[in-house]
Amino acid sequence: MRKEKALIFELGRSGRKGYSLPPCDVPVKELDELIPHKMKRQLSLDLPELSEVEVIRHYTELSTRNFGVDTGFYPLGSCTMKYNPKINEETAALPGFTRLHPCQPESTVQGALELLYNTEQLLKEVTGMDRVTLQPAAGAHGELTGLMVIQAYHRTRGDHKRNKVLIPLSAHGTNPATVSMAGYEVIQVPSDARGLVDLEALRAAVDETTAALMLTNPSTLGLFEEDILEIAEIIHQAGGLLYYDGANLNAIMGYTRPGDMGFDVVHLNIHKTFSTPHGGGGPGSGPVGVKDRLASYLPVPVVEHYGGRFVLNYDLPDSIGKIHSFYGNFGVVVKAYTYLRMMGAEGLKQVSADAVLNANYLMNLLKKTFNLPYDRICKHEFVLSARPEKKKGAGAGDIAKALLDKGFHPPTVYFPLIVEEALMIEPTETETKETLDAFAAAMEDIAAAIEEDAGRVAAGPHTTVVGRLDEVRAARNPVLRWRESQDQ
Ligand SMILES: *Cc1c(COP(=O)(O)O)cnc(C)c1O
Repeated sequence: MRKEKALIFELGRSGRKGYSLPPCDVPVKELDELIPHKMKRQLSLDLPELSEVEVIRHYTELSTRNFGVDTGFYPLGSCTMKYNPKINEETAALPGFTRLHPCQPESTVQGALELLYNTEQLLKEVTGMDRVTLQPAAGAHGELTGLMVIQAYHRTRGDHKRNKVLIPLSAHGTNPATVSMAGYEVIQVPSDARGLVDLEALRAAVDETTAALMLTNPSTLGLFEEDILEIAEIIHQAGGLLYYDGANLNAIMGYTRPGDMGFDVVHLNIHKTFSTPHGGGGPGSGPVGVKDRLASYLPVPVVEHYGGRFVLNYDLPDSIGKIHSFYGNFGVVVKAYTYLRMMGAEGLKQVSADAVLNANYLMNLLKKTFNLPYDRICKHEFVLSARPEKKKGAGAGDIAKALLDKGFHPPTVYFPLIVEEALMIEPTETETKETLDAFAAAMEDIAAAIEEDAGRVAAGPHTTVVGRLDEVRAARNPVLRWRESQDQ
């Protein structure tokens, strides 16, 4: 049942203290006179008075209400919520990194520049691209950077009629949003019965106004686009470029590379693929890789290595300019670099193998009970449809809430849009067979509960601190502060 905890305001007792300060060594009375009356608090602050341990317990208890990868299984499809090794935090916290100032002279930050340079080399190797910028702060930011590079490329060639970007129906929502932000028109390409890009429809959609095709491979259905070489040829023949949304790179590292599939521009979500925290866990990083013919359009500066020194090069004549202050989210890059070096080439390949194995194992357990619209070997994730359950009275969103009662973070729901009542599940490589079995058992329990009393499932969650919220209002007008009365 829902636990009713005393509020911190109710715990306070007059005279209890949680701090010990040395005596004030400035004359309080004079200070008081220095502050103009109108700037002083007129009413008492009325904070609860608590002992130190009560304060610690209060905040520690609050922190446990936040679900994270470190507290439980988090199969949020597309988001790759893998475990982030703690050594990443240790290296990122090294004083040699944290005490740098971005305006220091190059000669005094050679180690940091070397790390940026080395990270670029590793990402080039993993993606098959020729140059990489580490500046973008997230995947969506990388998408915008990539499309700006594509735009600059067409413009420099005097090719001004290209005003459309093609995206498949299964695309992540950020793709069409980025296309619009970049000033392009979105053209949607339908999927065929296999869940893959419909080649005939693609051929029909491509013409001399096509600037690019944006694609993720494997797709958000977790399916590999088998015709990718033909897709690349169709786009290139028409003079367009291929943009790779790298959010699903976790599935293919060491097996194939976007550069080898014919992609010209790639963004990576290193906060997904290379184990740096995301969501509430910290800032992200969305490096963008390009083929040689696009390298001169990248944001400045880029890190170069000559004469045994690392230098920041601002001299890219075709550059789209700056996309982030200084060099991007440096601390996040340190974490990803640590991960890349800890894993090594073989380790990364193992990551993808295990991610795909875990997804297929879980998919095969769950398809016994749930509808699997595209029943093929998947890559790192798969998508179920809760359409049959919805007909009984509890759909994808209700199953997601029911999972909260069972101690699991829900999968991604209602995305991708091409599956009705979608439940998009990505277990990641860092989970054990026992965890996957427990999740499948919880899902089966929920299916049984829907058979028995769908209304009760649809009224969940029943054990969380708050029940079913109005999700739009909760996101738009969050009430995060306690007030004694509404008019205060
Ligand atoms: C996460 C994701 C994005 C956007 O990345 P952010 O880092 O969240 O901005 C784009 N495409 C796909 C397929 C994703 O999963």
